[in-house]
Amino acid sequence: MINIAIDGPSGAGKSTVAKLVAAKLGITYLDTGAMYRACALYAVRRSVSVNDEEQVAKLLPDVDISFAGEGESKRVLLNGEDVSSAIREHAISKAASDISKLHCVRDFLVAQQRKIASESNVVLDGRDITSNVLPNAKYKFFLTASADVRAERRYKELIARGADIEYEKVKADIIDRDKNDSQRAYAPLVLTPDSTLIDSSEMTPEQVADVIIAQVMADK
Ligand code: C5P
Repeated sequence: MINIAIDGPSGAGKSTVAKLVAAKLGITYLDTGAMYRACALYAVRRSVSVNDEEQVAKLLPDVDISFAGEGESKRVLLNGEDVSSAIREHAISKAASDISKLHCVRDFLVAQQRKIASESNVVLDGRDITSNVLPNAKYKFFLTASADVRAERRYKELIARGADIEYEKVKADIIDRDKNDSQRAYAPLVLTPDSTLIDSSEMTPEQVADVIIAQVMADK
């Protein structure tokens, strides 16, 4: 199986790049962040605190996350409902970052991610793919960019979706989420020594995808 693992902070362009790589190589893209977001959305809708491990653990047996379609039309389904837009709401980003600290949630999702990766050629992006989900993946990348570039990308994305939000708030939230994701005790975001570090601040998504594809092709 070809498994390509991409980690990095919010707004580094991981999902855009991962989609391009998947399309060019004709393999599956797995957005692991969408899975944490779907869990967070489920808890929020049930009015369960995303910090309450005991209550969240009780919800998990009722959470079924799946994906439909491919490429740009790929949808995220939560118990069969298309939640692709709902999980991208700004408030759900922080809730996802908080719920992702819980062991029960990580164990629940990591098992599903490993199963998918064992059954198909897949590009996965997230925070702990290179370090924890697939530490033995052959292709491992850490994609980053400056905080300003990442905040600007996320701001433009939110504005394009019709959100009413200030740039400064987006930047502060990105920095806060970086801290949350890198400093948590369980499976934090780390740069593993065997990952290729790519700073995308001055690169287009196509250029980044080309770097990744070149490494995969060099082995063929
Ligand atoms: O990548 P995205 O911003 O959609 O992820 C939402 C949140 O889910 C992240 O802030 C992070 O806390 C969490 N996450 C994680 N591990 C992953 C993917 C995402 O903890 N593999």
